[in-house]
Amino acid sequence: MKNIKDYDLQELKKELNLIGEKPFRAEQIFKWLYEAKVKDFDEMTNLSIELRNKLKENYTMCNFNILKKQESSDGTKKYLFDVLDGNAIETVLMQYHHGKTICVSSQIGCKMGCKFCASTGIKFIRNLTSGEIVEQVLAVEQDIGERISNIVFMGIGEPLDNYDNVINAIRIINNPKGLNIGARHISLSTSGIVPKIYDLANENIQCTLSISLHATNNEKRSSMMPVNDAYHIEELLQACKDYIKITNRRISFEYALAKDNNDNLDDAKQLVKLLKGMLCHVNLIPINKIENGEYTKSTNENIIKFRDYLNEHGIVATIRRELGSDIDAACGQLRRKNLKE
Ligand code: SF4
Repeated sequence: MKNIKDYDLQELKKELNLIGEKPFRAEQIFKWLYEAKVKDFDEMTNLSIELRNKLKENYTMCNFNILKKQESSDGTKKYLFDVLDGNAIETVLMQYHHGKTICVSSQIGCKMGCKFCASTGIKFIRNLTSGEIVEQVLAVEQDIGERISNIVFMGIGEPLDNYDNVINAIRIINNPKGLNIGARHISLSTSGIVPKIYDLANENIQCTLSISLHATNNEKRSSMMPVNDAYHIEELLQACKDYIKITNRRISFEYALAKDNNDNLDDAKQLVKLLKGMLCHVNLIPINKIENGEYTKSTNENIIKFRDYLNEHGIVATIRRELGSDIDAACGQLRRKNLKE
C-alpha cells in the first residue's frame, strides 16, 4: 500500500483527485499529519467518515516503532526505528544551544564504502522513501513532545544516491504547511557525487551543502573514500565552485581528522591551497573509532593546530563538538551492534 507521507502537497492534491476528492482536502490532511501529528486516519475529524475510509483503503501512515533508544549524558538520543518491512534505521537527536537537530538516514545501508564509517559493514538494502525520511522527524518529535529546529542528512546512506526521494522529503519538511522547517536549517552531506551536486544547485532549495572531503590529494582520498575513484578532488572542487556560483550559498567541508593519516600541517597547508578564495567553512571532526576500523582519533593538540593553521590562513574552520560518544553515536554503530545481538 502507498505511504501517504511520500507525497508533497502538490502530489497529494493529484492523488486525491484520482479518488474523486477536492484539492483542499490535501491541505487538511497535511495539517493533520504535520501540525497535529496524528497517527491514524480516524483522528482526522474534519474529514468525512467516507473519506477517512477511502484513505485507509488506499494508504498507510507508516508510523515507525522505536526498537531501541539510547540516551547520552549530554542529552543526545539515538533511535533505532523499525521501518515496518523487517529493516531498521538509525536517527540521532542532538541538543545544541540553538535548538534540537536531528540527523536522519536516507538509505538502509550504504553503497559508498567510506573506510572510516561504521555503515561500511552494513550492506546496502534499499533507498528510504520520502515518507520514511519525513517519518524520522515526526517520530522523534512525537517521542520528545517538542519541535525539531534543524535537520542534517548525515545518517546512514548517501543522500545524493537517493536523490529524488531526498529532494521530495526536503520539500515536505520545508513546506510551511508541512513540517515548516526553513531550508536554511536543513543540511545535506555528500561524499561527492559530482553530477548530483549540479542537479542540486539547480533545484532552487536554500539548504546547506556539506562535502565530506577528508583528504587533500587523490591517493589519500581514494584510500579513505572509494567514491574518489569516480570523481577526483579537482572535479569535485570545480563542482563546488560552480554550486557556489549558481546558488550564492556557502559550502561546508567536512574533514575527519585521523591520527598519522591526514592530520599534519602539510595536509592543512594543502587544504588551504585547495579552498583558498572559496565561499566555504571547514568543519573539523575528531574521527570516531569504529570496531576493526583502521583509523584512530587525532590528538587534541593536532586538531587544534590544524584548526589554527586554517584560520590563520583565511579559511574559517571550527571543531565539531563530539556528542553522544558514550552511546555509539557514530553513524551505523547502533544498528551494527543491534544486528549482531
Ligand atoms: S560516510 Fe556516509 S556515504 Fe560514506 S559509507 Fe558512511 S554513510 Fe555512506
